[in-house]
Amino acid sequence: MAVNINLYQTIKQTLTNQNVQLIAVSKTKPNEDLQALYDLGQRAFGENYVQELVDKEASLPKDIQWHFIGHLQSNKVKYIAPFVYLIHGVDSEKLLQEINKQAAKQNRIIDCLLQVHIATEETKFGFDGPSLHELLVSGRVAQYPNVRIKGLMGMASFSEDQELLSSEFTLLKSYFDKAKLAFANGQFDTLSMGMSSDYALAISKGSNMVRIGSLLFGARNYNK
Ligand SMILES: *Cc1c(COP(=O)(O)O)cnc(C)c1O
Repeated sequence: MAVNINLYQTIKQTLTNQNVQLIAVSKTKPNEDLQALYDLGQRAFGENYVQELVDKEASLPKDIQWHFIGHLQSNKVKYIAPFVYLIHGVDSEKLLQEINKQAAKQNRIIDCLLQVHIATEETKFGFDGPSLHELLVSGRVAQYPNVRIKGLMGMASFSEDQELLSSEFTLLKSYFDKAKLAFANGQFDTLSMGMSSDYALAISKGSNMVRIGSLLFGARNYNK
């Protein structure tokens, strides 16, 4: 087990002091690693594969808040709708529609973040600035009463260029501020940005939720 207990406690304390929520990204990690952080009080865990999340939910404590942080296919929403706490990667209106439908079947309101494309890479999913704004001011969100849009999520470029990352986080924060005004419902309050390598920078640019994996759990091995 490679869980870094000391680092967890240090990071947790720092984030608490800054009013930033920590999502422990546990994808690919065994249940005992999650349990180790759970035993220290961690409740918010992030996963990005539906089947893995469903399996973990079934065998770990029921008061864990499960965050789905990856790209979610519409046809898989039904598997996580009964229990998911927050879906970070809502990148299309079609997906929002499906989440609304599955949430209604479960008699739930599911909290969601809209994912915004801020990175230079073509491959990262998400709304662009204009389409995000259009959706929020259109009033169409009211057609989806079983989803609650809590804020935005974004991933910066895969790069060590601090100026590039800084400008991407700043851009996302500006979309967040604008969307919050457009939305004006008092529940749009979450900006999920920052991972192991860039969370401090993301917080300095206005993030209030960070998704940290490898720093807490050690490097991931996808070939097991
Ligand atoms: C894997 C992942 C993370 C965590 O990455 P680390 O570099 O291990 O901290 C954060 N966000 C998303 C969307 C991820 O897929």
